Amino acid sequence: MLYDGNAPTGMMLIGTEYVRGTQASVQGVAPATGERIEPDFAGATREEVKRACQLSAAAAPLYQAVPLEQRARFLDTIADNIEALGAPLVARAMLESGLTEARLTGERGRTANQLRMFARVIRDGGFLDTRIDPAQPDRQPLPRVDLRLRNVALGPVAVFGASNFPLAFSVAGGDTASALAAGCPVVVKAHSAHPGTSAMVGQAVADAVASCDMPEGVFSLLYGSGSEIGQALVADPRIKAVGFTGSRRGGLALVQTAQQRSEPIPVYAEMSAINPVLLFPEALKARAAEIGQAFAGALQLGAGQFCTNPGILFAVDGPELDEFVAAAKAALEQSPAQVMLTPGIHTAYTDAVEHTAGLEGAHIVARGQPGDGPNQCQSVLIETTLAAFQQQPAFLEELFGAASVLVRLPSIEALPEALEKVEGQLTIALHLEKGDYAAVRNVLPMLEARAGRLLVNGFGTGVEVSDAMVHGGPFPATSDGRTTSVGTLAIRRFLRPVSYQDFPPELLAEELHESNPLGVPRLYNGKLQLSD
Ligand code: NAP
Repeated sequence: MLYDGNAPTGMMLIGTEYVRGTQASVQGVAPATGERIEPDFAGATREEVKRACQLSAAAAPLYQAVPLEQRARFLDTIADNIEALGAPLVARAMLESGLTEARLTGERGRTANQLRMFARVIRDGGFLDTRIDPAQPDRQPLPRVDLRLRNVALGPVAVFGASNFPLAFSVAGGDTASALAAGCPVVVKAHSAHPGTSAMVGQAVADAVASCDMPEGVFSLLYGSGSEIGQALVADPRIKAVGFTGSRRGGLALVQTAQQRSEPIPVYAEMSAINPVLLFPEALKARAAEIGQAFAGALQLGAGQFCTNPGILFAVDGPELDEFVAAAKAALEQSPAQVMLTPGIHTAYTDAVEHTAGLEGAHIVARGQPGDGPNQCQSVLIETTLAAFQQQPAFLEELFGAASVLVRLPSIEALPEALEKVEGQLTIALHLEKGDYAAVRNVLPMLEARAGRLLVNGFGTGVEVSDAMVHGGPFPATSDGRTTSVGTLAIRRFLRPVSYQDFPPELLAEELHESNPLGVPRLYNGKLQLSD
């Protein structure tokens, strides 16, 4: 067992076998106290990584052939099992991450809903993108062949859990849910910051594998360091795609490994973003203080440890902006410090804040309350000018935590040249009123070129898990800006189209049969046919 009902056992899961690792151990640390948490999770050997990948590859054709309804039930069952873990799961995640009970209870709901959403996607069948161009033997000047297309699963997917979402972006989070929905087996490399939480969720998946009669190898869970086990996993020739959320350095290391294989594979890495916030003049005139307060709230959510955290603001200098700053400063200065996810993330945060605040032309305008325990995040607002911002690319580096940089512009006409420097982002937020529309239109193409999600009069934190969500964006927000890691579209990352020409019906998958027995939506002879 990974979890015996009372506590995580420290074992890994390789196919259906529970194995105690023999390599360097991973042990959780409670960030709120700095204390180590039992048990030890001994890391996998390279041989064990290989075995998990072999089982995963053996499971791939079997799992893809599992009837869609059974595959959907599997995801529903994982969701049910996660919920059945009850309060102990939230308690363990709180201990390992320092996140609050409310936040983790919400995240557990999101994780279960996400799995159920993908179960719905499987049942609907639209993800297969079925297309049928029937033969036209009498077509002139040449007859047309019979062509039938469907998406197939890519094969085994390696998933790296994120530190900042121990449930929703981890063992059974968005990457795993979308890969399993696509018909891909998954090998998870647990994040070393929450090994116990990973074990509990891993048990929920393992139980679903057993009760839903899934092929052995459809899911494995390994412990060990990223640079050893993570690298070995991505280098394994049986792995066909990678899902990752974390640092730019970690994501790029995996992209490089994947590219250097004799068979390069796609890596869907969500890495770093600073999520610009644009405060347009009429919006500041109408409600500067209100936006300032709302900004302070968004900045501090989860100690700022969100990939969509508002890390940089652009606004025109003047009394309205001063009013915004005064409101944000008042709110930030009263705000208590919050525990960060790991000692490493805390050190990286404090170093980065000092570095950014020390750049030429920068100064700190507001700091939150200091904390009295270890790993406390004090929120910070730093200010600078457009000239200083343009001269120092370091202003664009992610400050992972509750820190943001305000760039004062001389005029709204200077916004395009400020945006010129901005790299790819997950989100860009626009605060505007009707009178700002012309200025917004002027930069909209630049914004579309730079972000996966543009939003009005809000902040990017709070990512809806739905059909129309894009949680992605051009590099370096992600390693592949054509896709998303949240929402139903995420399934496309793990699919590949195959066209069957002049196949006898007996050899075709059910979804390609003329009579459409599964009732999947399809493009038939150029016409969209929807399921009932
Ligand atoms: P991380 O260091 O990138 O780790 C993420 C996962 O990748 C972990 O499982 C880690 O293994 C593994 N890994 C790291 N380096 C690797 C490498 N060279 N080769 C293979 N695997 C590797 O990220 P983190 O620990 O979650 O947070 C560190 C920083 O990442 C934060 O300070 C922040 O800047 C950034 N971050 C960004 C986001 C975002 O959404 N934009 C989210 C979280 C974190 P181990 O378990 O051994 O560490």
